Amino acid sequence: MKLIKLDKNYDIKVKSQVTHFLTPDFIYIPIENRPLPFKRNQEIKKEESIFTDVFSPISGNIIGVSNGTFYDGQTKKCLVLKNNYQEKVKNRVATRKKLSTITIENIKNEIKRADLQEKLLHLDSKHLIVCGIDEEPYIANEVFIQKENTKEILETLDALLKFYENATAHIIIKNIDSENIESYSNFLGTYQNIELHLVDDYYMIGEEQNIIKSLHIKEEYIYLKASDVYEIYYNLKKRKPIVEKYITITGDGIANPQVFAVKLGTKLMDILTVNYDLDFTKYDLYVNGLMRGKKINIANLIVTKEFDGILIMNKKKKEPKECIRCGKCIEICPIHSNPMMAYLTHKKVPCIECGLCSYICPSYIHLRKYLIGDSNE
Ligand code: SF4
Ligand code: SF4
Repeated sequence: MKLIKLDKNYDIKVKSQVTHFLTPDFIYIPIENRPLPFKRNQEIKKEESIFTDVFSPISGNIIGVSNGTFYDGQTKKCLVLKNNYQEKVKNRVATRKKLSTITIENIKNEIKRADLQEKLLHLDSKHLIVCGIDEEPYIANEVFIQKENTKEILETLDALLKFYENATAHIIIKNIDSENIESYSNFLGTYQNIELHLVDDYYMIGEEQNIIKSLHIKEEYIYLKASDVYEIYYNLKKRKPIVEKYITITGDGIANPQVFAVKLGTKLMDILTVNYDLDFTKYDLYVNGLMRGKKINIANLIVTKEFDGILIMNKKKKEPKECIRCGKCIEICPIHSNPMMAYLTHKKVPCIECGLCSYICPSYIHLRKYLIGDSNE
């Protein structure tokens, strides 16, 4: 796969500290055709299980059902919880003193996400690969998770390594991520089986297959994001489900791009209206990034695990023009597909939705909508 460096606007920088938005008035939880486990007005405690794998981020009351929009543009029915701001938890549990004492039974019983638990139970793995890279330009969630939790991530990897015979953990970050290079370097001497790898600032360098190739890994491995490792830490150390996440609100349309710590289920508009005095109809809004993200209506957009952030960009004056058959979109495609043909013939071609063809097109054609038939683009 060919990798390229993107032209970035280095004036778009997030604030150096995380901003907290942890007391939303309402929380929205997608129901997904599951039977409702609670009645209207029923009180819910923080971290109480609502559905399998879904825990309440607040304490409050069920007040009804309403529609929410998700990162991919889909609309789903959501259970609405009204915050009572008491943060009452169902069961108080003691924090585990040392992660080094965990057992496989703890992994089976305490890791809440089924996909994470399944990955960790591949006990013949020889490598724990931790990608600390945000693929999308301007999104900085993985960078901030590591910056804020360097020790916790290292402690977790060290504790996990004992389950995999003769295994090594590899943390991969970009060579431009100076703060994380410094903070990892301060602690890594204590951990003999954890290595730090620096990679160039190429788009998609953190994709699993690209990392495996660059590290020349041939044996069994487990691939995790830095945020996954923090979630494992949280589940095992605090013995609780994680009900918060980082999101990035950025773009050249706002003066103060920031990474926010928010509760899962928060309505994005509640965060935006408190922190930004803007008429959002005047901007191009890209949900989950410039390259792979979508332009969707954000009026009812809900923060879920898959939502990484929003780019608020000044509207481009450049309207799409005729295809000049320059072939640049074909040349840049990392999987050697033919987006020009998809545009000209409206026939589907293989695509991993990386967005590079739209990025490079000198005629500003939104090739994505021809590639995946996405009416949101
Ligand atoms: S890059 Fe744009 S103008 Fe050039 S061939 Fe592809 S679609 Fe046509
Ligand atoms: S979006 Fe699809 S067609 Fe366009 S460059 Fe990426 S993989 Fe190729």
